[in-house]
Parts: sequence; C-alpha cells; structure tokens
Amino acid sequence: MSNRIPATLIPGDGIGPEIVDATISILDALRAPFDWEICTAGLAGVKACGDPLPPETIDSIRRTGLALKGPLETPVGGGFRSSNVRLREEFHLYANVRPALSLMPGGRYENIDLVTIRENTEGLYVGFEHYIPIDGDMHAVAIGSGVNTRAGCRRIAEFAYEYAVRNKRRKVTIVHKANILKALTGLFRETASEVGRAYEGRVQTDERIVDACAMQLVLNPWQFDVIVTTNLFGDILSDEIAGLVGGLGMAPGANIGEHVAIFEAVHGSAPDIAGKGIANPLALILASAMMLAHVGCHDLAARLRQAIDVTLNQDAIRTRDLGGSASTRDFANALTRRLS
Ligand code: NAD
Repeated sequence: MSNRIPATLIPGDGIGPEIVDATISILDALRAPFDWEICTAGLAGVKACGDPLPPETIDSIRRTGLALKGPLETPVGGGFRSSNVRLREEFHLYANVRPALSLMPGGRYENIDLVTIRENTEGLYVGFEHYIPIDGDMHAVAIGSGVNTRAGCRRIAEFAYEYAVRNKRRKVTIVHKANILKALTGLFRETASEVGRAYEGRVQTDERIVDACAMQLVLNPWQFDVIVTTNLFGDILSDEIAGLVGGLGMAPGANIGEHVAIFEAVHGSAPDIAGKGIANPLALILASAMMLAHVGCHDLAARLRQAIDVTLNQDAIRTRDLGGSASTRDFANALTRRLS
C-alpha cells in the first residue's frame, strides 16, 4: 500500500510562487509524503482562466482534502470577492489556527508561545453589505451586517478547548465585544463561556473585551495561552500577535474544517517585494510543518522545526525582515543543508 498523500498546491500571487518554491524544495529534502496537484486561484486564476477560484481548483481540494496555499491577492473596495473567504465558505473551514512562537532571541519580546483560534466563516465577514444611495451619491450610506450562530460559536469554542487539551495548553481566553455588539458578540461570549464550563478542572477559562486584549497583548503577552475569538477580531489580533514574534514572515496558519484543511502563511501577497527574491519563506514553511503534523507525520514536523531553529540561531541565516541579508533562496538552501 502506498503511503503517499495527495495534496493540492496553490502557488498564489505576488511572493506566493517564490515562497512556495522554497517550501517545496524543503519538503522534498525532508522526503515529505505529499503528491502535489498544482492549481491556480486569486489573480493567477483570473489571468489563467478568468476565474479567481477555478472549478478545477475546488475539485482538486475536494478530492485531496488537503492544501498548501500561497497568498491570494484580493482587490480592495470593488472587484472580485476574496478567494480566501470563498474557500473557507466552500469547504466550511470554520477554524483558523494561528500559532505564534518566538523562534529567535533578541526580539522585542521573548518566549512568546500563544495560539489564536479564530472563527473563520461567520461574523462580519459574511459579506452582507450594501449601499443606500441618497441624492445621486451611490455610496451615501454603507450598511454591513454580521451573522453569528449559536451552533457556529459552539463549534469554534469546542475546537479551541479540544485544541487546548490535545496540546497541553493551560488556558483559553474568550475575546469579544459583548459590551457594545451585545447580540453579535454577546452570543459568542455566552456560548463559548458555556463550553468553557464543561472543561473546568482541565482548562482554565478567561475572557477579555477585544480592545483591552489588544492593549494587554502589547503590555504582557505572556498572560495569554490560547485565544478564541470571532472572525474580524481574530484577523486583527493574529496580525498583532505575529508582530510579537518578529512579524508576518514568521506567522503560519491553518484553516480547518471537517473534511478539508488548508495551510498557508498569515501574510498576504506582499506586492511591494514580489519578484525581488527577498521574501521570508518561513511562515509558509512553518505552515507546512503544521500540515505534516496534521497528517500524522509528527517526526518530520519536529525535524523541520529543529532545522529551522538551527538555521536561524546557529547558522544565523535570516531574511531582511528579520534583520539578516539572506534571499528567499539562500534561506531555503541553508535550511535544506540542515535537513540533509
Ligand atoms: P501583506 O501581508 O501582503 O504585506 C504587508 C507587509 O508585510 C508588506 O510590507 C510586505 O512586504 C510584508 N511582508 C508580508 N509577507 C512577507 C514575507 N513573507 N517576507 C517579508 N515581508 C513580508 O499585506 P497587504 O499588502 O495588506 O496585502 C497584499 C495582498 O494580499 C492583498 O491583495 C490582500 O488581500 C492579500 N492577502 C492575502 C492573504 C491570504 O491569501 N491569506 C492574507 C492577507 C492579505
């Protein structure tokens, strides 16, 4: 019986192909068991076949249930809807897991180890938005609605607590804005707290209003362990948290549903540095380590993390965003040497 694992690979836009290329060379050096189906999406999908999320890409992910994805560009304001949001909806990828771990000493903060679990399909990202024209101004009023369901809140809270138990985490902090958005995030707080009570004695529960949480993350991030929150707050806080461990180049993410899991970097397509060969591939490489662990290859994931540690800290090979001078390829080559 073959133990190869079919998986979809989406190079993506901007720096996507550069960091995907680096990541694949590292997975090859590790002899990771993935058989890739290469697909397009985002701007690359529009250019190749006029569709930011081509049916072949959706079919491939449905077949493999597993994908590694480069960042996808989304036009701001008008234009097509985010392919990332569509993928989350299409495959009910309700949990977005974003671990933040200090990998190098000497940063602004040391010994950070926290995980954001963001609800990924509901809240203010459902796209229920419209304008009301007044006196010929088509955009005189903008209206947006959020949707949270008790079932969706329970599902993400249970995911967060189960994640905490499985990963030997001590505390889950429920982050909300129930003082103002009393229905929308009040329901989230109420349901997540109820789930938390079922884990009493195993996992501590704590809660914060999102603005206070944002400030406390800067003042004393070590008080947090696992944060569970709604879609928009999770999006914003996880970028802030990436900043605690050296920036977006260090932040991986996983989008998990019942049948499909998609792994990616938290950052976007970085058009300002695309094509220059200087992007930090680490976030996507760390996402690939999460993917290895997800399919049960814990030994390969551990070897990869160990090699990353040695490359960054012993060999001191770092890309520019981390204060070094290595190119994307230099970093990948150095890491590959540590794997062979
Ligand atoms: P961005 O994350 O692409 O870039 C923000 C800043 O961080 C830029 O200065 C960039 O150069 C830097 N940066 C990002 N990744 C880096 C890396 N690996 N190495 C070194 N520097 C890095 O955010 P943006 O500019 O707001 O978004 C650009 C595009 O990406 C938009 O179209 C947006 O919609 C899209 N986006 C996609 C995803 C995704 O596919 N998951 C996530 C976020 C943004």
